[in-house]
Amino acid sequence: MQILGPVPCLKCMYELDGLLPDQKCPECGADTAPSVAAAESMPTRRVTALRSALFDTGIAMACGPVALLPLVRTVGDRQDSAAEPIDFGWMAMAMFSFLFASLFPLLSLYGWRTLAGLQQADGSRPVTWLKRSSTVFAALAIWTAACALLAHAGNTMVTVALVSGLAMLGAWMTRTFIGVGLVIDVLRPLERRGLIVPGVLIRWFLPLAAVPCVAALVLHFAAARPDSTLSDVAQLCLALAIVAIVAAVSLACIWLLTIRTHLRFYLILAEARERRISSD
Ligand SMILES: [Zn+2]
Repeated sequence: MQILGPVPCLKCMYELDGLLPDQKCPECGADTAPSVAAAESMPTRRVTALRSALFDTGIAMACGPVALLPLVRTVGDRQDSAAEPIDFGWMAMAMFSFLFASLFPLLSLYGWRTLAGLQQADGSRPVTWLKRSSTVFAALAIWTAACALLAHAGNTMVTVALVSGLAMLGAWMTRTFIGVGLVIDVLRPLERRGLIVPGVLIRWFLPLAAVPCVAALVLHFAAARPDSTLSDVAQLCLALAIVAIVAAVSLACIWLLTIRTHLRFYLILAEARERRISSD
């Protein structure tokens, strides 16, 4: 049984169509079996679902933080006029900013769950944990947005919003750590080192980014100053934490969207191969 192409060699991209499975690549001498396995692991249906999951997760990560801006503004407006009764204009703006901010956690939940569904076959633990952590993150993100709207100077919702915001950040890091690992697993058969290595680096950058966040928190509570100002060291940790989180979010969304672009090649291959198989 000949190899039915298009099946490019994983090492040199030479077209292996028409060769026998036990033959080597005529161009670079590599075994043909891994290339055939890689091509077969990416049928059209799977690449399409994978690309849409990568789009949802990448866009949610890129736009989610930006979508918080109207919410921050709405909360700020209320802080400025806390003594005045709530007016209709503020209520409308609050509703809009809440819905807008909730859109992207829901999109990310949908995207990561689609990805988990694609890898479900073996029922592995990372898939279960990805589903759980993405649900927890989306719920905490929406809850934090609601708490932020209800918070104004002096009421307990300020503390509730801060605590749930921190929990949300923890859930984001956990979910992204597991999710990036799962995307790496999907890419592994394709042997694309240029895409896998950045993913591995991003994955291990996440726990590193958590260090200044935890340090800032510990220093803040250890100091327990009555005026609730941060010490210089805590301020430095907080600044480092913000830079690290912004870097992690940016790198992860660029990586996800880059993979999506690269998978277009496999989509074209899969479509061509399936057309040939159905016509033969
Ligand atoms: Zn080759």
